[in-house]
Amino acid sequence: MTDRTTDNRPRPKPGVMDIAAYVPGKSSAPEGVKLHKLSSNENPLGPSPRSIEAARDVAGRLDVYPDGSATRLREALAKTHGLNPANIVCSNGSDEILGLLAQTYLQPGDEAIFTEHAFMVYKIYVLTAGATPVIVKEKNERADVDAILAAVTPKTRILFLANPNNPTGTYLPFDEVRRLHAGLPSNVLFVLDAAYAEYVRRNDYEAGIELVSSSENVVMTRTFSKLGLGGVRLGWMYAPRHIVDAINRVRGPFNVNATAIEAGIAALEDRAHLERSVEHNERWRVWLTEKLTELGLRVTPSVGNFILVHFPDDEAHSATAADTFLTARGYVLRAVTGYGFPKALRMSIGTEEANRGVVDSLAEFLKR
Ligand SMILES: *Cc1c(COP(=O)(O)O)cnc(C)c1O
Repeated sequence: MTDRTTDNRPRPKPGVMDIAAYVPGKSSAPEGVKLHKLSSNENPLGPSPRSIEAARDVAGRLDVYPDGSATRLREALAKTHGLNPANIVCSNGSDEILGLLAQTYLQPGDEAIFTEHAFMVYKIYVLTAGATPVIVKEKNERADVDAILAAVTPKTRILFLANPNNPTGTYLPFDEVRRLHAGLPSNVLFVLDAAYAEYVRRNDYEAGIELVSSSENVVMTRTFSKLGLGGVRLGWMYAPRHIVDAINRVRGPFNVNATAIEAGIAALEDRAHLERSVEHNERWRVWLTEKLTELGLRVTPSVGNFILVHFPDDEAHSATAADTFLTARGYVLRAVTGYGFPKALRMSIGTEEANRGVVDSLAEFLKR
C-alpha cells in the first residue's frame, strides 16, 4: 500500500531545503505583564480611523471577489504619488512582489545580489527561485556601492537594495543610488525596496520614482505595513510597463483582498494620520537614540521607524540578556542574530509609554 520509505516521497526542488524559514518578531509577553510589541516596525498610532471604517464596510460584502486589478487602489496611489496607474502592481504585502520578481526573473544558475545585513526575505526568494544569493559586505552598517558593483558577474540578474535598510535603518543618499544604477549592466533588474520611504526626512533621500521613470531596469517596491496596515497585507510596486506586464502574468488573479483594497484607499486619503505618524516617529526616534546613547549603548543612526541598539560583550549585559530582561517587563524587541547582529536588538519606535519604559528598564539592566 503506502510506501513509507523516505526515498520515494515528494521532494522539494533543489534549494528549498537550504532555506531558513523566516522568523517573525515575537508578539507575546509573560502572563500578567502588559505587552509592548516593538518587534515588527508597526505603527504605534495604529491604523487610520478611516481604514478601520473602510474595513468594517467590507465586512458585509465578504462574499464578493475583489477587483483583481485593484484599479481604484492603483488610481489612488497614482494620484498620491503623481504616477501612471498602468505602471503600478499591487500585492499581498510588498513581500509578495519581491517574491514574484524573483520567480519571474531568476532561474537556476542565475545570481542575485544583496548586502550582508539586508532584509532577510531576499535570500528566501532567491533560493526559492533556485538561484544563487551573492552577499556583499557593508561598510559601517551601510550598503557599499563599490563592493556591490564589484560583485556583479555575467550571471547577475537581480540586485535587491532596501533603502533605508532593515534592520540597520541606514540609507544611501540618492546620488549614491544613481551611481549604483549607472554601474549596473542594463539587463540586471534593480529592485529598490523603499518600505520605509514615508518615514525618511532627508533632503538627499529619494524613494526611487524618478529612477524608475527614466530607466527600463528599475522597480520600486512600497508597503502600507509600516504605517498602520501590517495586518491587511498590502504592498505595491512602481515599474516599467514591460515588468508590470510580466508580473501580471505570474501573480495570483486576486492577490490583493477586498479589505486591503478599501483600507489602503482610505489610508491614502488620510494625510493627517500619515503626518502624525511620521512626526511621532521623528520625535521619539531622536529621543530614544539620545537616551540610549547616554546610557552607553551604541545606536546605528536610523532614518526608519526603528533603531538598532548594540550591547556590550560581557555576558551579563549582552543583547540576549537584555532581550530576556526587557521581555519579562513586556517590552518585546527583535533579536537580529539572523541578520548578522548577535550583539544587537532592533527596537521599533513605540508609544511614549513604551519608549520611556524601555529606556528606564535598560538603565536598570545596565546597572546590574
Ligand atoms: C517590512 C519590510 C517589507 C515588507 O513588508 P510587507 O509587510 O510584506 O509589505 C519589505 N522590505 C523591508 C526592508 C521591510 O522591512
